[in-house]
Amino acid sequence: MEAIQFNLKERKTKVTLPESLGFGKIFTDHMFEMDYNEKLGWHNPAIRPVDDLQVHPASMFIHYGQTVFEGLKAFRQESGEVVMFRPDKHFERLNNSSRRVCIPEIDVDFVLEALKELINIDKEWIPTNRGDSLYIRPFIYGSDAFLGVKPAKEYKFILLLSPVGAYYPEGFKPVKILVTDEYVRAVRKGLGDCKTAANYAASLLAGQEAVKKGFTQVLWLDGVEQKYIEEVGTMNIFINLKNEIVTPKLNGSILPGVTRRSVIEILKEWKMNVVERDITINELVDAYDNGNLIGVFGTGTAAIISSVGWLTYKNKQMIFNDGKPGELDLKLFNELTSIHYGLKEDTHGWLMPVEQKEVVIS
Ligand SMILES: *Cc1c(COP(=O)(O)O)cnc(C)c1O
Repeated sequence: MEAIQFNLKERKTKVTLPESLGFGKIFTDHMFEMDYNEKLGWHNPAIRPVDDLQVHPASMFIHYGQTVFEGLKAFRQESGEVVMFRPDKHFERLNNSSRRVCIPEIDVDFVLEALKELINIDKEWIPTNRGDSLYIRPFIYGSDAFLGVKPAKEYKFILLLSPVGAYYPEGFKPVKILVTDEYVRAVRKGLGDCKTAANYAASLLAGQEAVKKGFTQVLWLDGVEQKYIEEVGTMNIFINLKNEIVTPKLNGSILPGVTRRSVIEILKEWKMNVVERDITINELVDAYDNGNLIGVFGTGTAAIISSVGWLTYKNKQMIFNDGKPGELDLKLFNELTSIHYGLKEDTHGWLMPVEQKEVVIS
């Protein structure tokens, strides 16, 4: 791969971040991009100011959804050091998603180096408050202009950065979840285990209807029988039973979360009985009725851990821990965020430092 081209924007004033960052609303000054075609492979790597993209109206991804993305975070620790959480796993997953929708894979090591350069250039944008972070959105789309269903011949890869606030500005608040059997997000052997646009388009209506009924999000059941528990919103799900902590096993329609994988490792270290297996919604309801259900929580990069306080399935309304965050949920949240912010030693080697260098604008 050629060297990265730099076209940097002169920053006339110091970056000032708004008091409340929210999520995904503000973007840094620069982005990384590169192009793909059949002759050159991935080429033209460049870091340039964030600007509108040139997109032809017949650009293939708009019509046929050939696009994949990732979501990961960088944190500024108290020492000033900047670290990313398991970025290698995210880019390996990006390649897995790409393979499923015929997008050419990227070189993970090259992209990690490009990402470090980009973060270093925009490091003033990394928030310092505990709970805040820099959200990183890598994505690829089929860009050539052609009407007809087949894999694109040209692609664009982009790294976009967005400073984000703590997911729970008012503290760790449990969410209200509706179990949907009206809609499914994915089926086995389909696209469910890929971060590709179609899955999120498929999820919107169910989410919108749940919000209208006063819920935060939906719990997804399997695509065939609507019997097995799969995910909650855009998070993986854990069901905390008296004798075991269950998370649905990866079956092809569940997104293999990096947070899910990290939580399983932590629970094992804590000598807790964590099991990856199929679990039906009826088993959950029975466990609730028998007093064997302690709680339910979701895992994902955005929220880290999200406690479920209320769960409604058909006419059955369940409440966990009086609608307060579960003990285990809080403990896991504190463990992961302590690792992120360097308050606890990173014994697993999950953090990748971003070396901070002087930026010279030429
Ligand atoms: C991204 C995502 C997750 C969580 O994955 P993380 O790697 O933990 O962020 C879970 N489910 C869906 C559907 C997702 O898109």
